[in-house]
Amino acid sequence: MVLKDLTLFRQAALVGGQWIEANLANSNLIRNPATGEELGYVPELGTLETRRAIEVARVAQKSWARRTAKERSSILRRWFELILQHRQDLARILTLEQGKPLAEAEGEVAYGASFIEWFAEEARRVYGDIIPGHHPDKRILVMKQPIGVVAAITPWNFPNAMVTRKAGPALAAGCAVVLKPAPQTPFSALALAVLAERAGLPEGLFSVITGSAVEIGAEMTSNPIVRKLTFTGSTHVGTELYRQSAGTIKKLGLELGGNAPFIVFDDADVDAAVEGAMIAKFRNNGQTCVCANRMYIQNGIYDAFAQKLSAKVAKLRVGNGLESNVDLGPLINAAAVQKVEDHISDAISKGARVLSGGKAHSLGGTFFEPTVLCDVTGAMLLASEETFGPVAPLFRFVNEDDVIRQANDTEFGLAAYFYAADLARVFRIAEALEYGMVGVNTGLISTAEAPFGGVKSSGLGREGSKYGIDDFSEIKYVCLGGI
Ligand code: ADP
Repeated sequence: MVLKDLTLFRQAALVGGQWIEANLANSNLIRNPATGEELGYVPELGTLETRRAIEVARVAQKSWARRTAKERSSILRRWFELILQHRQDLARILTLEQGKPLAEAEGEVAYGASFIEWFAEEARRVYGDIIPGHHPDKRILVMKQPIGVVAAITPWNFPNAMVTRKAGPALAAGCAVVLKPAPQTPFSALALAVLAERAGLPEGLFSVITGSAVEIGAEMTSNPIVRKLTFTGSTHVGTELYRQSAGTIKKLGLELGGNAPFIVFDDADVDAAVEGAMIAKFRNNGQTCVCANRMYIQNGIYDAFAQKLSAKVAKLRVGNGLESNVDLGPLINAAAVQKVEDHISDAISKGARVLSGGKAHSLGGTFFEPTVLCDVTGAMLLASEETFGPVAPLFRFVNEDDVIRQANDTEFGLAAYFYAADLARVFRIAEALEYGMVGVNTGLISTAEAPFGGVKSSGLGREGSKYGIDDFSEIKYVCLGGI
């Protein structure tokens, strides 16, 4: 692998401060999704290593919590700076294991780093309260304390940023983190761990365990030392982890699936809406949980929008993310391609028409043509399931009440987008959408300063923003009597 700093590429796991190297007897092979080439190995670990990491984390966390917030902040700040310094290498590792174009990978690394920066700052602003009391000789104090050992499970679509978005606030609050990265993309997480060590993060505070999801997950959810589980992934796995965590009453942060509506009203700026749709739909090849999944276009501008969008989509360049001038990389695996194909063929069999793309790309592998479908209806699979691929399905709608009903007619509630000019309408729609995040006249909403999270089956809790650190703190009420 061509890197400026080869030591960032670790074929190992980090368990309670000890690196465990991959060995051929008991390791998993990771492949580049663009070429199928072998990238490297990580060890197949399980229950025992997870337990050890948790036990070491408990000890490390106690002394980490006793440090001043400023000391924690300074180490996180150094970590942030190192991530930016090694941005190109981290992006290269990311593209090699995940497939997204290099420029997009660099963008993710910067976005990921921004969570470490933000929470390095927030670490010093975890304030308590003194509450006016209920009795003359008593005083009511509220302190916020780190929740303790945190287990984190992350997905493959953002191998860097999903790690930092969890580890940043947890470490800032004074917690320790035991992380299980996605099996497809462990190397980005391991590179972050190398840099965390270099930044001076004390041993045992941040473990990265690779291996059996079932074993690692079972230990994380059943071990009483773990006080919080933070997970980003599918609703199916999130539900299972929620169930498994019941026995030890853990706090949970769950960022699960989405089925984002993207609504364009007649009074919108159509060109701006097309630009927004390109970002909201095709970023990361449609593989983000906030990607537009259903595009509702009002009758009066439907044809103009469809024509402009498909013209732009037809110009997208598909290829190996390491090559220059590539807009879309491969999909993550064959199952992802299958889902996209199933959604398209179901839609066509029920009357949808292909305006652009529609089939596997001539490059082969898991490359797929970015696709625009029109005449899409609520009866199609695309309406109820998250496609997680480069397909823009265009639904036609006539009136506001009807589109709100359709937009909310899903178990999910993560992100929603709409384009409109009328101020009263903007407020009406923003309030009526049952989603945790709403983009108005923009297709890009994620940033460290804002609370990321969903409602309904899209999850629990918020990441990023001033609220993000609360999810890793406990409130303690101290009643002082006899005063
Ligand atoms: P996706 O289908 O997008 O890969 P998943 O929800 O399956 O989403 O995966 C997200 C993360 O959850 C990954 O790190 C994966 O290994 C992990 N995971 C999957 N199944 C389990 C499980 N039973 N216990 C714990 N983690 C799991």
